[in-house]
Amino acid sequence: MSEEKIPYKIYLEESEMPKQWYNVRADMKKKPAPLINPATLKPMTAEELGAVFCEELVKQELNETDRFIDIPQEIQDFYKMYRPSPLVRAYCLEKKLGTPAKIYYKFEGNNTSGSHKLNSAIAQAYYAKKQGLRGVTTETGAGQWGTALSMACSYLGLDCQVYMVKCSYEQKPFRREVMRTYGANVTPSPSATTEVGRKILAEFPDTNGSLGCAISEAVEKATTQDGYRYVLGSVLSQVLLHQSVIGIESKTAMDKYGIKPDIIIGCAGGGSNLGGLISPFMGEMLRGENNYRFIAVEPASCPSLTRGVYAYDFCDTGKVCPLQKMYTLGSGFMPSANHAGGLRYHGMSAILSELYDQGLMEAVSVEQTEVFKAAEQFARVEGILPAPESSHAIKVAIDEALKCKETGEEKTIFFGLTGTGYFDMYAYGAYNDGKMSDYIPTDEELQKSFNTLPEVK
Ligand SMILES: *Cc1c(COP(=O)(O)O)cnc(C)c1O
Repeated sequence: MSEEKIPYKIYLEESEMPKQWYNVRADMKKKPAPLINPATLKPMTAEELGAVFCEELVKQELNETDRFIDIPQEIQDFYKMYRPSPLVRAYCLEKKLGTPAKIYYKFEGNNTSGSHKLNSAIAQAYYAKKQGLRGVTTETGAGQWGTALSMACSYLGLDCQVYMVKCSYEQKPFRREVMRTYGANVTPSPSATTEVGRKILAEFPDTNGSLGCAISEAVEKATTQDGYRYVLGSVLSQVLLHQSVIGIESKTAMDKYGIKPDIIIGCAGGGSNLGGLISPFMGEMLRGENNYRFIAVEPASCPSLTRGVYAYDFCDTGKVCPLQKMYTLGSGFMPSANHAGGLRYHGMSAILSELYDQGLMEAVSVEQTEVFKAAEQFARVEGILPAPESSHAIKVAIDEALKCKETGEEKTIFFGLTGTGYFDMYAYGAYNDGKMSDYIPTDEELQKSFNTLPEVK
């Protein structure tokens, strides 16, 4: 199709919306390593996982063979409230940069929770409800996941208990209030409401908290209350599965207009948006049908892919979760408090870790001041005020577009714009005041954290 015909924004028709999620593991020859039980060092069974997670989600977690999994009609209906998300041609950014590259982004921030997290939240809440549970517990870092889950739970009439990393709880009161408005119960973590929280507080009374701590607390709460299970907003393979809706919509829209991305870029915290975004494209690559460059962008302050080790590790600080083989900084890693956005988890999705290890995906790390500079540049020409997390992808998309300017190549660059930055105005304020600094952990700090890795043969 000719250039002029490609609209600024491409929305799918209702009839074109995905009816199935895509499970990229089905096309991986070498699969991600299984979750293992820290006590027995054997792969976790469905029964063991079922004590913590909802039944249907356990099935999805362990499913490495079904390429497609039906999206239940109720979830499709919920998706229709805020999907499809637009695929936007960044004409204004291209012009501003003077690049011959074509830049596209998929914007996931058009819902009250403000990010892609709602795609998995509704799925997880749905399966919990279907199982007849009373409620779910979870952790939230920057607050997007907790917000998304509280929306999904209130829609379905489930109780929602959120452990929010303490520094975010204090820095982001508005996120907390959105969650409470949707009926969630929000506790700053670490807290005295759990055994593991009390233990962490006794050892580190001044801690700002971390995702790893909050996960431990939420898991404890799920397993000690009747009718509750734990849900997680990233990292797990089931979450990447649900997030494949982003990639499928993108690919459908691109195929319709004859657009083929050369480079696909996403920010990577636990890996869910990136995994979902690239899944259908990666599937083509794994089946030998097409070629793409995939780039994961992570903060230099929490560089699990670029400086971590590929090893079995705990998913949480309190060491109550199964062990997962992943790129990790060690479950004891505490990201610096001055880091402005999310993307603070010590590990990375097992699927993305394995793809990265196989050389199918690249990774780069960027510092937060340059990320905010890219965010500002983007906001001023494209209008959308991006989340700091998403801006990691913007930064690298701009870098790649500028490389094209030098070489004259007309590459097509596609990135995931995961959310809005409306709740990150303190961070923007620090940037605007010139008070933002970059923190990069030293090799010694990382080594100290690697020393806490469990020994698994
Ligand atoms: C949570 C979040 C991320 C990072 O999480 P992933 O699981 O790596 O996708 C990125 N952007 C936004 C806006 C988020 O809320």
